[in-house]
This record gives sequence, structure tokens and C-alpha cells, in this order.
Amino acid sequence: MHPACPHCKQSFEPEPGFYYGAMFVSYGINTALFLVFWVALLLIYPDYTLSLLLGILTAVVILSLPLSFRWSRSIWLALFVRFDPKAGNTLDS
Ligand SMILES: [Zn+2]
Repeated sequence: MHPACPHCKQSFEPEPGFYYGAMFVSYGINTALFLVFWVALLLIYPDYTLSLLLGILTAVVILSLPLSFRWSRSIWLALFVRFDPKAGNTLDS
């Protein structure tokens, strides 16, 4: 991860430990994934076993980790940093 945005110079580490809160966003993303895959399994294969469900959910979490990690950090940062479309405009500098 870059220390700051190469375009607008926004710091990606506003303070030490800033991204601890992203764990809550990640929790929400993973809960949504759990629900989607659980309902899909219920519809596709209603006689599923608990070990099959846990295996599928474990695989989903591991495979989605690169995306959910970055999404949760991006969402967490977007909650605290206002988007400024004029920041870093290369035509002005
Ligand atoms: Zn930027």
C-alpha cells in the first residue's frame, strides 16, 4: 500500500492504528458473503451438511480475502476522508 495517494497526496495512514476500524467493515462484508453463500447452498443443495457449509464458507473467506481486505480499508478511509474532485488536479500544478 502506498503511504499516500500518488494523485492527490492524501495520506493513506492518517494516524497509527487507523485501520483497526476496518475490521468492522470486513466483518460486515464477510457476514454478507456468508449469508449469500448459505442461501445459495440452501437453494442448490438443501440436504447440505454442516461440514460442507463450513468448508464452502472457509474457501469463500480465503479466496475473497485479497478483495475484502482492500475494500474494507477503502470503505473505512472513505468514511473519514471527504472526496475532493479538485484535489491533485494536474492541470493546476
Ligand atoms: Zn487521491
